[in-house]
Amino acid sequence: MDQGPDEAGQLYLGIETSCDETAVGLVSSGRNVEGEAVASSAGKQDRYGGIVPEVAAREHVAVLPGLVAAVLQQAHRQPQEIAAIGVTTGPGLFGALLVGMTAAKALAVAWGRPLVAVHHLEAHLYANALTGPIVFPSLALLVSGGHTGLWLWRGHGDLVRIGETLDDAAGEALDKGARLLGLGYPGGPAIERLALTAQGPGPRLPIGHIRGGSPYDMSFSGLKTALRQILDRDPTPDAARYALSLQEAVVDAVVERVELALDAFSARAVYAAGGVAANRALQERLHAVARKHGIGAFVPEPRYCTDNGVMVALAAHYGFSAGIRLSLEAGPRTPWPLGSARV
Ligand code: AMP
Ligand code: MG
Repeated sequence: MDQGPDEAGQLYLGIETSCDETAVGLVSSGRNVEGEAVASSAGKQDRYGGIVPEVAAREHVAVLPGLVAAVLQQAHRQPQEIAAIGVTTGPGLFGALLVGMTAAKALAVAWGRPLVAVHHLEAHLYANALTGPIVFPSLALLVSGGHTGLWLWRGHGDLVRIGETLDDAAGEALDKGARLLGLGYPGGPAIERLALTAQGPGPRLPIGHIRGGSPYDMSFSGLKTALRQILDRDPTPDAARYALSLQEAVVDAVVERVELALDAFSARAVYAAGGVAANRALQERLHAVARKHGIGAFVPEPRYCTDNGVMVALAAHYGFSAGIRLSLEAGPRTPWPLGSARV
């Protein structure tokens, strides 16, 4: 019989393999990190200039078993103490997801533990459980390399989509801009470091507004073109100023939508997540808008902003309590929109 979280000390294992990070986390009581391990195939992907799904999947196969063993050892825990195993089932790279799910199923059968299906984006948001108890309703902002959007978070498993990017993700815009400035991947941290050294403001880059669309939607694909046009006309570009311009354009676009959403919907907190949430300039602006609305803005520590196994374990904790399970017959679910559409 399935043991509930209480009987098993509320210990959850999380497995994440949706993209190029293989990650495992072990969390108790929905907030205590007992073990964690992350391995990235980014180094092996470098020579291809992007993520090759097959390379990602092969790396997951090679490193995942070792990471699971390492995390249990770190925590001095036995498989029998685990209440359930959470695994990212989508969205992401199909073959990469399949490796994590197959491993999770094998462990579940071998250990006799239940499985919990975890939505990758929802897991990112749950990283905020490490910042304190999550309150509802709240505004959830996801800004990562693959996704960017805003949700009204009304309760566990109850999200309503407010707005999304219609083209590139915020992190993707920073990564592409960074490449134009001759910076390596990932571009976001490099842009942030370089922007800090700018001796003055850079030119204003246009923020995409979607004509006739939802005021909460975003568009970042024009930024790269705008930056390229400016660079083409500038024989001695001041890269630091342009890095600042790019960062400000992305931060402005995101914060503007957050502010609009806070004016329109009642929220008791703002929760940010995803790799770009590690950006200090964005964090400062989020804190400022939230403060203006009399609430707090929360951002996980940088290593819990990017892909990690801890966030999957946290999502599994809350998902398991809400009755979510994963059947042994289920395959990866991608694409998989998060939350219900706004009416
Ligand atoms: P994720 O897709 O959530 O794994 O996050 C990766 C994305 O976050 C990449 O596009 C990075 O460039 C971006 N990123 C990571 N750290 C920062 C930072 N400090 N500032 C801005 N972007 C960042
Ligand atoms: Mg991610």
